[in-house]
Amino acid sequence: MYYKSNIKEDAREKMIKDNLNEIQKRINDACVRCGRDEASVKLIAVSKTKPVDMMREVMEAGVVDFGENYVQELCDKIEEIKEPVVWHMIGHLQTNKVKYIVGKVALIHSVDSLKLAEAIDKEAGKKGVKQDVLIEINIGEEATKTGIGLEAAMNLVKEASKLENIHICGLMCIPPVVDEPENSRPYFRQIAMLKEEIEKLNLPGVDMRELSMGMTGDFEVAIEEGATFVRVGTAIFGARNYNK
Ligand SMILES: *Cc1c(COP(=O)(O)O)cnc(C)c1O
Repeated sequence: MYYKSNIKEDAREKMIKDNLNEIQKRINDACVRCGRDEASVKLIAVSKTKPVDMMREVMEAGVVDFGENYVQELCDKIEEIKEPVVWHMIGHLQTNKVKYIVGKVALIHSVDSLKLAEAIDKEAGKKGVKQDVLIEINIGEEATKTGIGLEAAMNLVKEASKLENIHICGLMCIPPVVDEPENSRPYFRQIAMLKEEIEKLNLPGVDMRELSMGMTGDFEVAIEEGATFVRVGTAIFGARNYNK
């Protein structure tokens, strides 16, 4: 048990419930604004660095999708949590760690190279599973961020679509940090356009149904631009204790 929290339990449980109610309301309002069905947007609770007992409080409020960034922490939590959770790997993934998570997570959001796609494919083949993945786009073309550039993305999708044991389900992005949520909109829009372009190719093994975009600071804008998964950590769990 090394993911400990220090907030008093009762107060914490109430905080989480209130936070989730508020977020769900904001999701619903965003859907109404852009004429989308609320059921088309899934909330992923991003629980990195947060303790399992806190995650259970989130589950009790009805959330089933959880996102984690670090392979070790993810595997520890999968071991410990017996409740039916849909796990999402949203952090950067190294090829040598692929074996620990393939077949255990519903969706890997962070495929950004053919090498990584091939490693996942190989492991999935070994385990006799088909692994759902998203292609992570470095939409701001930032040197410090993972993800594949916009230009190279199309080619990666084409090549990765030939791999038999992975299933490409859509795109993911983390736009550059901006002052105003509104400033994320052009990035989200670009991702949505790329999704459409890829759809037009009709590649076998590719089904562009998911857009994983939007976090605490900008999930409403992301929904307006077509997000099907929003990844929210801070607004649910509160600030993370250290910078991870
Ligand atoms: C940490 C993280 C999030 C959640 O960020 P918040 O701002 O805390 O909502 C979402 N996506 C990814 C990839 C992350 O690493």
